[in-house]
Amino acid sequence: MKQFYCQCGQPVFFDSEKCLSCGSRLGFDPLSMTMLALHQAGEWWLAPYGNAFRFCDNATKFQVCNWVVPDTDPHPLCSGCRFNRTVPNQSLPDNQQRWLRLEEGKKRLLYTLMQLGLPLENGWDAPDTGLLFDFIEDGRSQVAYPETFVHTGYLGGVITLNTLEADDAAREAQRLQLKESYRTVLGHLRHESGHYYWQRLNADEGLRAEFAAVFGDDSQDYQGSLDRYYANGPEAGWQQRFISAYASAHPAEDWAESWGHYLHIYDALETAAAHGLRSVWPDQMDITERISVWRALSVTLNELNRSVGRRDAYPFVLNAEVEKKLAFVDRVIGLLRTPGPGTAAH
Ligand SMILES: [Zn+2]
Ligand SMILES: [Zn+2]
Ligand SMILES: [Zn+2]
Repeated sequence: MKQFYCQCGQPVFFDSEKCLSCGSRLGFDPLSMTMLALHQAGEWWLAPYGNAFRFCDNATKFQVCNWVVPDTDPHPLCSGCRFNRTVPNQSLPDNQQRWLRLEEGKKRLLYTLMQLGLPLENGWDAPDTGLLFDFIEDGRSQVAYPETFVHTGYLGGVITLNTLEADDAAREAQRLQLKESYRTVLGHLRHESGHYYWQRLNADEGLRAEFAAVFGDDSQDYQGSLDRYYANGPEAGWQQRFISAYASAHPAEDWAESWGHYLHIYDALETAAAHGLRSVWPDQMDITERISVWRALSVTLNELNRSVGRRDAYPFVLNAEVEKKLAFVDRVIGLLRTPGPGTAAH
């Protein structure tokens, strides 16, 4: 993530709504990828260079967004919120906070996808190729839905996330029950976006063969593999071949986990450069260099966390097998940026 600055010079952040130094209202403009200090003029908010914006409806009505819409665009929602299909019912308790957490994760995901130059279309504007999000509740988060049990996952252009993942106590309970070392809203969303992009790429036979050589045959029984994983746990010695225990459940999950980590690493290296911890930006490094820099930096990050009594921020090991998987993700991202040979036409 870049470091943003208010017009007064104060450093501000991607999630900021207000400058703590000069009091300016802040809004993120996804077109210029900048944080704008805005002042109100009637129904509009004016940026320092004079352009007029509105705040997204989800900012003014629900305080879960800080993105703006240019005056030339009649849509009530910002380009990030247009990806929503289902949002938590705001008349129910705790749901404003949960939705806010989900939006923060989703916006950070979208930011990195934009930084990487990946194609981004919402499923309303592009029903065949676009992406949508369902933030869904079940009986565990609201007594109003006693019968249902909603799984986080991806299917046919829609990422579904159980709203309960935005509740710290509930997510931590899940993490412990599943013996995971890491479980976050952002991690879920980045993982699921990997399923979306692999489907969207519509890879040809050659690329599918390469995929199989790196991750294994992803046509093997999906539900059976996952059931086995949840019943018996990960295969022995998974640490030598996979980034996480869950990645060992099925080749498609290994791919999505690797994709998620590719995004973690890119974002973290960008943040490190923005804050002067490294002099090189991730887009100036190839994947081998990125991995090597991140290996050293993540150790420092974990040690810093331990210094203040917290668990490791990045409890993962990037072994040689994982490195190959990340290199394949890098290749796929290149193809997605510029569709051409290697991908079948839609
Ligand atoms: Zn300011
Ligand atoms: Zn919005
Ligand atoms: Zn998955």
